[in-house]
Amino acid sequence: MKAAIVAVGTELLGPGRPDTNAVWLAERLERLGAEVRIRVLVADDEGAIAAALVALASECDVVVATGGLGPTEDDRTREALARAAGVPLERDDARLAALRAAYASRGRTLGPEQERQADRPRGARFIDNPVGSAPGLFVSVGAALVAALPGVPAEMTAMFEGSVAREVASRGAGTIVRRVLRVGGRTESSVDVQLRDLYGADGVEVTILAASGAIDLILRARGPDASAARARLAPVEAEMRRRLGADLFGEDDATLASVVGGTLAGLGRTVATAESCTGGLLGAELTTVPGSSAWYRGGVVAYANEVKVGMVGVDATVLDEHGAVSEAVARAMAAGIRERLGADYGVAVTGVAGPSGGTPEKPVGLVHHAVADAGGGAHVVLRWPGDRALIRRRSVLAALDLLRRRMREA
Ligand code: ATP
Ligand code: MG
Repeated sequence: MKAAIVAVGTELLGPGRPDTNAVWLAERLERLGAEVRIRVLVADDEGAIAAALVALASECDVVVATGGLGPTEDDRTREALARAAGVPLERDDARLAALRAAYASRGRTLGPEQERQADRPRGARFIDNPVGSAPGLFVSVGAALVAALPGVPAEMTAMFEGSVAREVASRGAGTIVRRVLRVGGRTESSVDVQLRDLYGADGVEVTILAASGAIDLILRARGPDASAARARLAPVEAEMRRRLGADLFGEDDATLASVVGGTLAGLGRTVATAESCTGGLLGAELTTVPGSSAWYRGGVVAYANEVKVGMVGVDATVLDEHGAVSEAVARAMAAGIRERLGADYGVAVTGVAGPSGGTPEKPVGLVHHAVADAGGGAHVVLRWPGDRALIRRRSVLAALDLLRRRMREA
């Protein structure tokens, strides 16, 4: 079953008002077994809404629209639904009486504008609104079922759960389950080449995308219920896990920081950071994880060489000999902060974030990452493309990935 989502509202087309309804609906529809194929934003304009509904109805089995059902003049969805369905808009006497009673019970009287909420395209069914006044509408447009709901998120979700979900489920779509596998320290194309023969295997649909600091593989499988869908997905997931090995760092909502934090918590160990070019971003990333105080000791932003020496304990002669951006200094920073803060692991980053400061031997984007622990340590030097912000972000994630891999080995 194919589905489309339409958000109606002129304000949604400008900046500052994101269409959060569609994000919520996409997730819910998927769990009900519907393939969301199209998402559209339309202004409060009768012609534009009607045109969108007709186009989506010709392509999809179910269309969920939100917004534009209120009593005000700019709410045009009812008229557009009638136009798209090719039927007149009619006032429903029973609904009008119910609306009047609802207003009266709150000590308000129903004005002529509010009476519009009792209008429906001929043949349409009202959808009750348990948390507000504007009812929704089920309307047939061509062969598709259109469910129109108010734009207010609380009303939209309540009405979807109360009425629309049942209607979608009764169309026999089963359910779709999804699993996200998160891969660190790899390029999208190398992961793609390694796994592409598994895409589509056993009806498991796979999407690969480069996310912030990771390559995500999104696996989706359909089944009559969630456990059947999961059973279909499981062998493909297992084979991907086997091939990816240590490159797979987590699943679903996991981040490198949350995985590192979870591992440290499980081991009962702690970490400290010494950062140069990332200026504290590594510590900030670690502390996005709730409960990080259990395993993050703290860190030093060791920007100036005197701070690397005085606060982190880097030997001045090592700095003189190798320069601040070097493997020796990265390792010394990791070892120094580990010792000074009494942590099990020290992590350090030093590099050239640019745009200036690059030299032929140490170009912009060159970053040394190091980890120190009781068994010694690990180091990786990378040459990042991108601007200053991107280089710093990538350095943070590379440092976390280095620590993650080091802990796996231990
Ligand atoms: P209703 O049918 O309930 O009157 P509406 O679109 O006519 O909906 P508005 O007054 O335009 O009502 O919007 C009500 C609130 O809902 C506003 O804060 C608006 O930004 C929000 N809203 C509308 N559509 C969406 C959406 N797609 N995602 C998130 N918020 C939305
Ligand atoms: Mg609106």
